[in-house]
Parts: sequence; C-alpha cells; structure tokens
Amino acid sequence: MIYFDNASTTKIDPRVLETYNNLLTTYFANPNGTHLLAREVNRLQDKARSEILKLFNYPNGKVIFTSSATEANNLALIGLYLNYKNRGNEIIMSPYEHPSVRNVINYLQEQHGAVIKILRLDTNGSVDLNHLANLVNKNTVLVSIMAVNNEVGNINDINAIKEVLKPYPKIIFHSDVTQAVGKVKLPYDKVDAFTFSSHKINGLKGSGALVLRANLNPHPIILGGAQEDGCRAGTSNAPTNILLAKTLRFSLEEQEARGKKVYDLSNYLRSLISGRKDLFYLVSPANSAYIVNFALLTTKASIVLNGLENLDIFVGTTSSCSAKLDEPSHSVLAITNDKKMAENSLRVSFSHENTRAEIDTFFNALLDLVLGGKNE
Ligand code: PMP
Repeated sequence: MIYFDNASTTKIDPRVLETYNNLLTTYFANPNGTHLLAREVNRLQDKARSEILKLFNYPNGKVIFTSSATEANNLALIGLYLNYKNRGNEIIMSPYEHPSVRNVINYLQEQHGAVIKILRLDTNGSVDLNHLANLVNKNTVLVSIMAVNNEVGNINDINAIKEVLKPYPKIIFHSDVTQAVGKVKLPYDKVDAFTFSSHKINGLKGSGALVLRANLNPHPIILGGAQEDGCRAGTSNAPTNILLAKTLRFSLEEQEARGKKVYDLSNYLRSLISGRKDLFYLVSPANSAYIVNFALLTTKASIVLNGLENLDIFVGTTSSCSAKLDEPSHSVLAITNDKKMAENSLRVSFSHENTRAEIDTFFNALLDLVLGGKNE
C-alpha cells in the first residue's frame, strides 16, 4: 500500500500506542474524583497541559482538551465570540478556512449577528496583509487565519499578521494550526488562541486541544460539569489527553529531521509534475513541503483516484471533510478561481515515512491513467 493522504490523517506512532495501553489500564480513574488514584490521574493530566504549553513555548496560556480540532475550533470561535462580542461583532477570516472554522463563523453570522469579512489572497495564495490592514477596525472582535492550508499547503505569516493587528490589542487572533504542528516552524506565542489535533501528528483519533491565553474565557459549548476550566463538561478522557503531550513532543522534537526528508520527497514529486506541463498544473506554492496539490488538465480526478485506489495507492482530492459533499476543492477554487481545476485537483500529502520509490510507483501509475495506458 502507498499512503499519500497524511493531511487527512496519519498512522499511529507505535510508541504512542504502547503508552496508551499502559495509561488505559493503569490510570483509568476519573481525574475529577477525590481519592488517591483520581488525584494521580489529575496530576498527570495537568502535567500534560504544562508540557504542551512548554513545547509550544507559550507561557501564560492554558490548554483545553477536546475530541478534535473541529471541536476546538467550535469552542474557540463560538465560545470567544459569545463572551467577547461586546468588543465588536466583526470577524475576519481567510477565504480557505477549514469547514470547522468557516461553517462556525457562518453560524455566528446567521444566529448571533456577527458580520463576516473575508480576506483576499496575494499571488502566493497567502492572505493579503494590506487587505487585512484595511479590514481591521474597532468593531473587529476575532481574526481567524489558518497557519497552513489543508488542501493546498499555503503558509500564512503569523508574525506579519500579528504586526498588522498590533494597534488593536483587544482583537483576539485565532489560528487553526492543525496542518502546521510538527511541520512548519511557528511563533505560537503571537497567537491568542490556536487549535490542533493528535491524529494529524501520528497520535490518537478523538484527541485535540484549544490552547489560549490564560486570561481568555470562552463560553462553554458543552454544558454540564466544571471540567476543562468550565469550558467542556463531561468526564475527561484523561489517558488520551495525557498522551497528547507525548505525541506532540515526538512531533516537535523530530520536526526538523522529518521535514528534511519530506522536503526532498516533495521536491522530487514537484520535478516530475513540472516535467509534464501538458498534463498537470501545480497548485501548491513552492514552500509547501508536506502537501503537493496539482490539477489534472486532461482527465477527471475522480477517475484517476479510482484507478490509483485499484493499485492500492491512496491520495486525496479535496479535504476529507468536504469530499463527501462532492464539491470542488474550496481552497483550490479560492486560489485559482478556476472551477475545473478545483474539481480535478489531487492532493498528495506526505509523512516522513514515505519514500522516493513510492513516488516513482505513484507517478508511473498516474501517467498510465492520465494517458490511457499510452505511457511508455
Ligand atoms: N483544521 C484543519 C486545517 C484540518 O486540516 C482539519 C482536518 N481535516 C481540521 C481542522 C479538523 O480536524 P479534526 O479531524 O481533528 O476534527
């Protein structure tokens, strides 16, 4: 099997799995209980929070564990908007946010009177900073800009965005960093709230977090008990939460070494794609290593996807969260303004475990499919 769909989800790291087994069987008590075992689980869970803050170099922050980046985005955006909408009702976002940001902000518009401002992109497909400077004003309450786009891989400059927001210290800057963690170096301390999940970094499914400034208090979206700083009721999934710290540590400690490997793979694939300009159009910008998105100029992506899958080769088209809707890629459309390309783009997303030999097999199969068996 060749798996090139790592932006969708990744295979679990065996070291993480082994620790999970131990945690589940040893530290199964409810961390909100009062007895000794419960207190020990609570201590480990709080230790994991501290470790996560340390790993992100994010002092004066707090960690709210969630079930996913989707849930973390919902909590960040709904929770912060509800509690801080007295500061203003305008929300600025990029045009290619993940549905768990975009649809939540649309919901805030429909149900809670928010006004949405959508940023233009520059020629690299990153948000246009001049446009951002034009849009921010004293009614802006939230700015939500993803660090790395999940469908195409465009990177947004967090430092530069923060500079633009500097004259407005009350604006809350949120960034969905799900596709950046462990892949792109980020100044996390420049962001007021950020969200990610474990399964994108070789961890468990059903595990994510919202990290935010200690003095920010989102309104809870799951009501009940006082768990997770009163933001998310329900018995904590302590083993999973504890494990998130370890998963993150592996991912950040190994970021550089993995990145070098993936950079090489990515360049290799790009050179093959660029060699066939008659067949393919590269959508991803030059600095996107983990995600290589390209449009098929002569064939339908769905047909190619099927053909590849028959050979046990798995790539993505649009993001998995939109794929079932049978829609063109939202991000490719935002970047290229070309519906046909958005309908016929493929997303190859790497892990550090992929190889050049896999790329060769994939690319030959791709040529066969695109040329209808005429690949010599
Ligand atoms: N944000 C981005 C940028 C993503 O790529 C994804 C996963 N496709 C999510 C959020 C949602 O993550 P999760 O699957 O953990 O809900």
